[in-house]
Amino acid sequence: MLIDGVLTEGTTGASFDNIDPATEAVLGSVADAGHADMAAAIAAARTAFDHSGWANDRDLRKACLQQLQDALVAEQEELRSELVAEVGCPVLSTYGPQLDAPLREALVWPAAMIDEFPWRRSLCPKDAFGMGSESEREVWKEPVGVVGTITPWNFPVEIILNKLGPLLAMGNTCVLKPAPDTPWNATRLGRLIAEHTDIPAGVVNIVVSSDHELGEDLSSSADVDMVAFTGSTATGRKVMTAAAGTLKPVFLELGGKSVNLFLDDADLATQMGSAAGVCFHAGQGCAIPTRLLVPASRYDEALELAVEAMKRWAFGDPTDPANLMGPLVSARQRERVLGYIETARQEGGRIVLGGGIPAEFPTGYFVEPTLIADVTGDMTVAREEIFGPVLVVQTFVDDDDAVRIANDSDYGLSGMITSGDLERAKSVARRIRTGTLGINGGIWYGADAPFGGYKQSGIGRQCGIEGLEMFTETKTVAWPAS
Ligand code: NAD
Repeated sequence: MLIDGVLTEGTTGASFDNIDPATEAVLGSVADAGHADMAAAIAAARTAFDHSGWANDRDLRKACLQQLQDALVAEQEELRSELVAEVGCPVLSTYGPQLDAPLREALVWPAAMIDEFPWRRSLCPKDAFGMGSESEREVWKEPVGVVGTITPWNFPVEIILNKLGPLLAMGNTCVLKPAPDTPWNATRLGRLIAEHTDIPAGVVNIVVSSDHELGEDLSSSADVDMVAFTGSTATGRKVMTAAAGTLKPVFLELGGKSVNLFLDDADLATQMGSAAGVCFHAGQGCAIPTRLLVPASRYDEALELAVEAMKRWAFGDPTDPANLMGPLVSARQRERVLGYIETARQEGGRIVLGGGIPAEFPTGYFVEPTLIADVTGDMTVAREEIFGPVLVVQTFVDDDDAVRIANDSDYGLSGMITSGDLERAKSVARRIRTGTLGINGGIWYGADAPFGGYKQSGIGRQCGIEGLEMFTETKTVAWPAS
């Protein structure tokens, strides 16, 4: 790990295994940090923010982000194979959102925005109290300080870079605690920072631990000014509770239960392939639409097409570029997904496809692409995030009903709408309470595109101008007008 500019194995002497979820083999071991290591990392980030000059040196920040970008690109292929091994993601996905897409822009875009960001704006001079003296007034944007950064295992590089890029560009320092399931991409990042950049000691600290509670040290510490968290809604709630003691801002990117909505004028025969998107990375994506909403009048046709699309989804060895789906990340995660499928059976859902462990893959944490029909809004699988290759199908009678069902969720992260009429689709889009929406196959993703959730899908936005703003404080200053 990386603490105060030093590559270290921490102080506990302990280590934990990194497991390949496709083979269940131990890839290697990782140093296991304890609370003292986390305390040292927080102290280093505090000192670096308060004393290193990083917060005020925009040129240094631009240069360092570029150095880190170059170092990552130089080890892109090592990162790729390591990611496939520890995450179990299909190698094909690393040429897109799992690796190459964030490597193209997650650091580069915020670095370029350092010059363009409105760090300062003038207000009109004003005699605020009507006492005959005007003041010049300005609003200054400043870094928040030390950001506790806590990340999950499903898209580790994508999520880490889309947090580090903006927070470093804005002048913050950080302590990153990656998910224990996928530690190597983060420890590699730490090494690249130490060996190939001029990022001052303590600006980025990376603490790896099998103990989730180390995350809580970040949420509760008085020396941490903000927490930026991506993970489950349940853990997000714990982060917010722990942060309440010091009233620090929490930036939460949480779970989803997004819809893939086909209006009744949609061309199902050519568009229903998107239903199989639930199998992408075995459904382990927060923004993947997992509720298929189809018109009751076209239910049979839609089901048949969705099943066909999911049957065609190739899965297996994630290192094989022909496969679009690998295993789930862990045995625990697979048990969770199988438990949801069983609950669906008990609550009256009809398993039309899949529903278990594929016979051809007894090793590795695989689950079959699974489609559950006849799902109603009160069923557990319609309400809770499953995080597996499991699609639930619900029907609606008209656009109002579709909007009602789409919004009948604690979540509001993403979604898709398909219609033969773009304007009609947009008017439905305006009524769905969610942070991102793709219409007729449109893809909203990008370092310049704010991403985040309504309702219990989170607080705040990652990426885009809004994502830079997240990592700033606002200071209003005034002096007598001359
Ligand atoms: P998780 O909530 O179990 O863990 C996320 C991180 O939080 C890990 O680093 C973990 O060690 C840490 N953690 C656990 N307990 C903690 C605590 N009490 N205090 C502080 N940190 C703690 O999530 P996961 O299983 O790693 O990831 C899957 C979840 O992440 C899904 O719910 C998914 O929807 C969500 N996710 C959301 C987004 C988004 O941008 N909205 C993106 C990816 C994943």
